[in-house]
Amino acid sequence: MSDMIARERRYGAANYDPLPVVMVRGQGPWLWDEAGRRYLDMLSAYSAVSFGHGHPRLVAALEAQAGRLAVTSRACHTDRLPPLLERLCRITGMDRALPMNSGAEAVETAIKCARKWAYVEKGVGAGRARIVACQGNFHGRTTTLVGFSSERQYHRDFGPYAEGFDVIAYGDARALEAAITPDTAAFLVEPLQGEAGIVVPPEGYLNACARICAERGVLLILDEVQTGLGRTGRLFACEHEGVKPDGIILGKALGGGLLPVSAFCARENVMGVFRPGDHGSTFGGNALAAAVALEALDVLEEEHLAERAAHLGTRLLERLRALSSPVVRDVRGKGLLVGIELDPERAPARRFVEALLTHGILSKDTHGTVARFAPPLVISEADLDWGIERIRETLREFGPVHEKAAAPA
Ligand SMILES: *Cc1c(COP(=O)(O)O)cnc(C)c1O
Repeated sequence: MSDMIARERRYGAANYDPLPVVMVRGQGPWLWDEAGRRYLDMLSAYSAVSFGHGHPRLVAALEAQAGRLAVTSRACHTDRLPPLLERLCRITGMDRALPMNSGAEAVETAIKCARKWAYVEKGVGAGRARIVACQGNFHGRTTTLVGFSSERQYHRDFGPYAEGFDVIAYGDARALEAAITPDTAAFLVEPLQGEAGIVVPPEGYLNACARICAERGVLLILDEVQTGLGRTGRLFACEHEGVKPDGIILGKALGGGLLPVSAFCARENVMGVFRPGDHGSTFGGNALAAAVALEALDVLEEEHLAERAAHLGTRLLERLRALSSPVVRDVRGKGLLVGIELDPERAPARRFVEALLTHGILSKDTHGTVARFAPPLVISEADLDWGIERIRETLREFGPVHEKAAAPA
């Protein structure tokens, strides 16, 4: 066993179970391990590395800003944060943005904002505000967020839990309608559930939710930490249904794969409830993070990465769906966020992703049955095809694979 793996096992907390590989270098969609073996990164650090590893423009922005000014805290202004705030508002269609670091912090920010909005603007009685969330949700790992997770392991043994959350079925707009009470502040939802196993809700779901929220005076807050910034083939996944939420949460790719950068963006009457001292973060919105995030948003636009994700995602989905294998139960996703659901008896997802690793593909299982594929949006068509070929080879180790006849046009 590699010395690095042994030392991590000895000195690290056991809260992860990493694949048995030690990466030492990355470039674009490729990673190299200690022995010099090359892997195609089809995980992208759960969408945080949408720009690929070491994107030259992002590394240059990081280096230039690191030597100039990095962290001041929000006790003073810098010349880097305002352009980022302005850009975030322009691309999300929101009025104000609040920068944080991790995705979980940005979700916590949204929850605080929605609750204060409920008391100050909606007139909900003190301490009564409620937030509706969905089964299978993943919003991060803070004690409040795991308190309303339906995933047993995320939740069990970490109580007592914060009050004020109602959990309903995902993809069912009528369940939302039924769950709303006069005390409901917000509906917090992912446009497509990533961690739950790449779960795509029925068409029209988000639109129906937006209509219900508007009618009932409830904020629609979208967690686009994973689906945002081009991943699903649009700049934001809510654009697939032309939905404009009241608040949108961003993270992961916002840091260009170099730094943790997140943000909560919202309409004026929502973000307007925050007063000096209500909320904050020492590192949130620091000049270094802002410079990198701004450059990342430039690259996203100039390299047309959302369009690339749409085009390459269609190719990935079609080619995976064309593979007929007795161990594949479903292939689903949107843009470059795709999951293969496997038969857990014949092809446990963990064993499948370990087999993929030996074929030079880095991916990760979720929930024991789904292998997820989310390559960097900068991946070339040739590299993607190479990856698809390796997936086909790996599937062959678990059973015969036939090519289905292409569906008639
Ligand atoms: C990853 C993720 C988060 C949490 O982000 P962290 O940076 O890990 O705290 C929140 N919401 C969604 C949808 C995510 O995919």
